[in-house]
Parts: sequence; C-alpha cells; structure tokens
Amino acid sequence: MLYARIDDRCKHLPEYDGHAVHALVQPDGTPVIAVAVHRDGAGILSPKGTLVRSLGGTRAMQYSSDDEALRDALRLSSAMTKKAAGFELAIAGGKTVVFAHRIPHFLTSWDARVPIWEAYGKTLLSQIGTYLTAEDMNTGPRDMEYIQRFAPGFVAGCSQSADPSPKTALGVLIGIRAALRHHYGDDSISSRSFAVQGVGSVGAGVVRLLVAAGAACIHIADMRTDALRALQDEFPKILSITDPVRVHALPVHVFVPCARGGILAAQSIPEIVAPIVAGCANNQLATDADGILLHTHGCLYAPDYIINAGGIAEVVCDELNWKNLDVVLPMIGTKLTEIFQVSDAYNIPSSQVADSMVARHIREHYKRPI
Ligand code: NAD
Repeated sequence: MLYARIDDRCKHLPEYDGHAVHALVQPDGTPVIAVAVHRDGAGILSPKGTLVRSLGGTRAMQYSSDDEALRDALRLSSAMTKKAAGFELAIAGGKTVVFAHRIPHFLTSWDARVPIWEAYGKTLLSQIGTYLTAEDMNTGPRDMEYIQRFAPGFVAGCSQSADPSPKTALGVLIGIRAALRHHYGDDSISSRSFAVQGVGSVGAGVVRLLVAAGAACIHIADMRTDALRALQDEFPKILSITDPVRVHALPVHVFVPCARGGILAAQSIPEIVAPIVAGCANNQLATDADGILLHTHGCLYAPDYIINAGGIAEVVCDELNWKNLDVVLPMIGTKLTEIFQVSDAYNIPSSQVADSMVARHIREHYKRPI
C-alpha cells in the first residue's frame, strides 16, 4: 500500500469543500483507507509534544462503493469542523474511513486489521503529522492502542474506552436546560415532559439524566424492544414506550431526537407539537430549508452540532489539556443561549444563526477556503 493525496479524486463529490484527502492506495490506485482533513486550525500543543491541528474518529464500514466511503469522510470531517468552531477551538475536523468492503474479513478478524493499522500509523498518520484520531464506528480501544505504537501522539483513547456518549448526553442535558430557560424563563426539568426518539448509547444516557433531574414524564421510542424494556424496567413509573413513527408528534414540552439524521423534514415538522427540539442526533434537518420551516412552525431548535459536541469537548480537554471539561461543557448552554437570542432579535432560524456564527469563526481561524 502506498501513500497518496486523492483530493482530485474527491473534487466531483457534493460534500467536497476544499478538503485535503490523504489515503493508502493499492498499486492500481484503489483506496483502502482515507483521511479527510477539512481545515487546518492554528492547533493545540498536546502534552506529548505534538501539534494537533485537526481531530476526528476512525471508522470502518462495509460501504456500497468507494465514493460512498469518501463522501462519508468528507461530510463527517466538515461536521467536526462545525462542532469545534462552536467551541471556538483552534482545531478543525478530520475523519478516517476504512474501506472494509475492500479488505476481506476486516470487520470480523483482528488479523485482517493488523497490517492496515500498521500502515495507517506508520505511513498515513505520520505523514499528516497534525491529525489526532480516536475510536468511532467498528473500532475501539484495542485498535487505538495498536495504531498508536506506530504514530505516538496522534491517537486518543488507547488505554481505556474513549466512548464519547456519556459526555455527549451531559451536553444534551445542558442544551435542553438552555432551551427551557430561553423559552419558559426557567430551566426546571421536573415540570416538563419529554419525548426521546432513540435510546441507544446517548439517548439512554439522556433519559437517565432527565430522570435524575426529576422529569416526571418521559416517552421513549426505539425499534429495539430490548433497549426499551431495559430502560422501562429501570424507571417503570416515569417512562412510557411510544410509537417510533409518531414520537415526534407527541404533545410534550421537548422533543429529543437521539436516533438518526433527517428526522426534521417537510412531512414531520408540521406534526411537531413540542415547542422545543433539542437532541443529539447528527444532521437532524433533512435540508437547510427545513431549518426555516421549523422556525416558522414556532419550534425553538437547538442546532445539532452545538448541542451534541460534548464528546469532542471531552477528547480535547482530556487528551490536549485544552481547558477543564467542567468549564467547557457549560459553553454548550452559553452558545445556544446566544444563538436563541440572535434568532429572536432578527427573526432568523436558529440553524442559520449557528451556521453563520461557525462560518465566521472558520473564515477567521482556519486555513483553506470555506
Ligand atoms: P446508537 O446507535 O447507540 O443509538 C441510536 C438508537 O436509535 C438505536 O437504539 C436505534 O435502534 C434507534 N433508532 C434508529 N432509528 C430510529 C427511529 N426511526 N426511531 C426510533 N429509534 C430509532 O447511537 P448513539 O451513539 O446513541 O448516537 C445517536 C445519534 O447521536 C446519532 O445520530 C449519532 O450520530 C449522534 N451523535 C452521537 C454521539 C456520541 O457520542 N455517540 C455524538 C454526537 C452525535
């Protein structure tokens, strides 16, 4: 496998936005693993002495095509830049995708991973030299520990699981409180009702935090009946299981999307009764226009990449000693409040306010054009 820059190979893809795309390719040019780096920030010097200018997870998937893999890397690294910019960090977004559809048994056999991880660390991460990675879909602490032998200083979460879900859930609770405060004038959870769509790693964490904060009524929806039952066994008096197809339309104070993207769309938005939408799912708006629709429908929307940035904050605080996480997580609430206030003052959708805030930060603080 050889190192190659494959920016040109990506320029026709709709998600391409000036990214640098580094790859390991087979002799015929077919990529096996690719790292999309969206921007370069000024960077933060890590305690290990490496200058980190971009950050993002390493995921492995059976993609249906190479283009699908590259689009995933481009889209997710851009989203990471937005999350980082939301915190006014000097680090941009990156993302690694392993083309598991090209590597026999990659998802099921450790032996299949070993040569890929060795080349990834030795050649790719070392060549980029400023990109910090961590676990993501289908990778874990064992993978990270192995990769970092070949690229010390550029891998997070080696000795223990770097599962970002608990801190993401905490950030969502902070965001929900900011939205309640803005809309009702107080952030009390106990007098409010919630509908949580998706009770996976983050959603279940949000439910537990809401229960601990005194929520009296929480509706939960998921296709995984085991996950629903386990949660309801824990809190039989508080949780009621509801229809995944109708959960967004329940008459509650807060709709909390914690499943997949695209839930806020032309069909679903008119059915939303909750005055607040605040949850962790990535890419909740099916299109940019749906941000306008949600605003005119009268919903206070907490932009996803701001409210769900607790996990990235944890990595940056823990691995790079950036700041104290206890100081950084509340910034999610501060930033959302600022967004809601500007949205009210100028009657602009919160999604657009957030987009222009991060675009300004990106223009001013990151290299390569937006
Ligand atoms: P997960 O896979 O653990 O949980 C998602 C849950 O949603 C699953 O239980 C799934 O069955 C359920 N689900 C899927 N479609 C559904 C639907 N239509 N209706 C109801 N339930 C449905 O994922 P997660 O890590 O909890 O992440 C949830 C969302 O938050 C994703 O969009 C993810 O990209 C985003 N996110 C996660 C993190 C993190 O720290 N894990 C950070 C930022 C953003």
